[in-house]
Amino acid sequence: MENTTGKAAMLIVDDVEINRVILAQFFKNDYTIFEAGNGREALDFMMENKIDVILLDLVMPIMDGFEFLAHMKRDARFSSIPVIATTAQSEGENEVKAMEMGAADFISKPYSPTVVRMRVRNVMARMENEWRKVEQNAQSQQIVEMQRLIERDALTGIYDRESFCRKASDLLQKDAGTRYAIVYLDISYFKVVNDLFGMETGNLILKTAGAYFQHITEGVGLAGRMEADHFALCLPLDTLNMEALIQGLDGAVQSLAIRHNILFYAGVYPVSNVFLTVDQMCDRAHMAMNTVKGNYNKRYANYDEDMRALILEEQMILREMEYALEEGQFCIFIQPIYSLKDGRDISGEALVRWIHPLSDIIPPGRFVPLFERNGFIVRLDRFVWEEACKLLSSEKKKYGHVIPISVNVSRLNFYDADLLSFIKGLLKKYDLEPWMFKMEVTESAYTDNPQQILNAIHIFQEAGFQILMDDFGSGYSSLSMLRNAPVNVLKIDMRFVQDIETSHRAAVIMKNIVNMARDLNMGVVIEGVETKDQVEFLREIGCDAIQGFYFARPMPLDQYRERLIGEMAKGAPEIPNYGTTPSEADPVKYE
Ligand code: C2E
Ligand code: CA
Ligand code: CA
Repeated sequence: MENTTGKAAMLIVDDVEINRVILAQFFKNDYTIFEAGNGREALDFMMENKIDVILLDLVMPIMDGFEFLAHMKRDARFSSIPVIATTAQSEGENEVKAMEMGAADFISKPYSPTVVRMRVRNVMARMENEWRKVEQNAQSQQIVEMQRLIERDALTGIYDRESFCRKASDLLQKDAGTRYAIVYLDISYFKVVNDLFGMETGNLILKTAGAYFQHITEGVGLAGRMEADHFALCLPLDTLNMEALIQGLDGAVQSLAIRHNILFYAGVYPVSNVFLTVDQMCDRAHMAMNTVKGNYNKRYANYDEDMRALILEEQMILREMEYALEEGQFCIFIQPIYSLKDGRDISGEALVRWIHPLSDIIPPGRFVPLFERNGFIVRLDRFVWEEACKLLSSEKKKYGHVIPISVNVSRLNFYDADLLSFIKGLLKKYDLEPWMFKMEVTESAYTDNPQQILNAIHIFQEAGFQILMDDFGSGYSSLSMLRNAPVNVLKIDMRFVQDIETSHRAAVIMKNIVNMARDLNMGVVIEGVETKDQVEFLREIGCDAIQGFYFARPMPLDQYRERLIGEMAKGAPEIPNYGTTPSEADPVKYE
């Protein structure tokens, strides 16, 4: 029998037909009524039909009400259907027993229509309520679970950035009496770990770190994974012991037995200004961290007021950069590169300067890293290249030949598909040739996205450009970079030459790098040469090209043009070409 009325279904179980008829009368308007003569029949009927409420006589042949209740209880399909026991007046004991066995209520004969209806209504309402509660419970549990999933970082199970910031903000507000600190942590050279050991190992490290952070913040603070290998913690300041924290972290990560030194660095912002957003607090801790990153002796730093001044300057720079470029506040200085053998300049490097109307000249170290983060470097670099081209063009017109200029090419440029056509366009506009315009790419760029950079470099070399690897020796795996990136010239990082006087090892390394470069048919430029002793040493080991304050500092264009007069009087410089580029096969000649 299908119930198609849309009303709830009531099953009346009684062996006396008249009782069933009476009850049916009471409920026929509100329920679709079904009847059964004993428990067995009722169960059979329920196998096939959905029932919403049962009125059950307790005393029946074949299967009485108690046995029926026992069956219902055991069967998950039926256990939640409300049963109202119907009894004779004399059956007080049975009523209790029925209720114990799961009946929701009872009604006794003789039936009063009002009382019976009310009881049933009450039972149904109670059930509904119960259901709603169960549903709500399930729903809210689901919501909690979903929230937990959403706000947790999928890999480590600790909070993600968004929820860390939210929860930390709540915590700082709720527990205003406690002074908290925001700790920001980062693994140095995590990319390298991924490259060397694979993503899985990288993930394992992150998970281990996440578990450790979870453990140490449990009940006292919060831990979140902000991005990639960056984590943040919020902990009460007075219990914070950074030495112990980092030691514990080292221990946890070392237990993974990865054959690579995995170093975490941390910055601490003791929350002194509760009006900052947690994001801003993290920025401050991050900034403190950056002051020690890469340092072997010091693994964490506190944010202090000096850093505040830096932040203010950063904000000024970001606010004013566009305007400054439009207003011509950026310009280039040139630092000559001097040949010991020829006793003259063989090249120059264009270095950007910001001539700020209200302050001293701002050196690139203060703004280039910021622009690399926000992308503005791409526009600034293009401006610098064009300035370099203008210089070369005027030189060419005046002397008929040029001393090449190398420019810095920030790695971001390589994501730009029309980099080559842009540079070719510049050369065409100023009537220049590729060998006049050399490109310096810093060593660390090759570690970031090797293939992309390597492809680009290859394309540029094919087009006749010389590529210099800037800051060679400053990175973690300079030698493997060298094998993979067949650049034309190595610019040896300043720190090497500055160490050779005090470190025998640095001197030996320098000597061997120079020999190796020669064997690989690569050029070498030594940067940062400041003293006569350094020059003598470099001359001894056969270095030729030198860039450093000893010979010349970076200088404004008019001063460089002055210098050119003398240099050009020495005739056209002999321009060395390195590597297997087309330009090597066909060296440039000057008349
Ligand atoms: P870099 O490319 O390694 O440039 C060489 C830096 O070393 C220059 O600093 C130069 O002034 C300095 N230097 C040269 N000889 C000596 C010396 O004997 N002793 C010492 N102590 N320093 C010396 P500068 O001009 O401050 O530039 C710093 C960095 O900023 C550059 O390092 C380069 O990475 C970046 N940069 C400069 N101009 C540009 C640019 O136009 N575009 C991009 N993307 N980066 C630039
Ligand atoms: Ca450079
Ligand atoms: Ca350099």
